[in-house]
Amino acid sequence: MKFIAEQLMQYTDSRDNDISCLSKSISLLNRRIGWVPKGWIPLYQDLVKSLMNLNDDIHGDVKVVGPWVEGERMEFTSRTLTPVVAGILRKTTRRSQCTCSLCGHPGKLRSFGEETREVLCARCYAPKELAEQLATWIPRLESDDFLESESVVVVDDLDTAFLALIPQTQWRWVSNGKDGDLLPYVLSKDMVDLLPELKKLHLLVIEMASADE
Ligand SMILES: [Zn+2]
Repeated sequence: MKFIAEQLMQYTDSRDNDISCLSKSISLLNRRIGWVPKGWIPLYQDLVKSLMNLNDDIHGDVKVVGPWVEGERMEFTSRTLTPVVAGILRKTTRRSQCTCSLCGHPGKLRSFGEETREVLCARCYAPKELAEQLATWIPRLESDDFLESESVVVVDDLDTAFLALIPQTQWRWVSNGKDGDLLPYVLSKDMVDLLPELKKLHLLVIEMASADE
């Protein structure tokens, strides 16, 4: 049995040696397509196609490792690169930085809350942003001390996506300082009255935000 195992190992090794580093990288990249967000799959496929078109005699020693996917970009690492392969990898990373990771339309880097950053188009971003705003505001409006601690909310302090949910008929105005500028605000109790609607909307936008994932 040991003999057979050794034979098999030698056979596998020799077979492995016949395959270039580049070809091994390509087959590994093909197997890792599941690591790539849906919107970036076309540009990932373009990358693999470009690597497959390369001449093995020139680029055979090139080893590409990845994809390393973050919200902000898709990257690759390598120990041995030719300028051509470096260019292909750079181009893929650059494209990921301006392509919506959910749907593949043109996008840009967007932030949610404190830490999350993703490349998204406006359409994919809107429900996510609104879901984030509602997730922040609903518990605040529900808390027992909201009405006691904050009798008014200044409109300028609200995020535009959330502000759009408050009917303008509920805005009030106060004269701000000597120059007589008017400062818009909303009564806290008027915002609390919106809670049932905001909760319904929250469920809806969560559904919309996760539909493309
Ligand atoms: Zn999108």
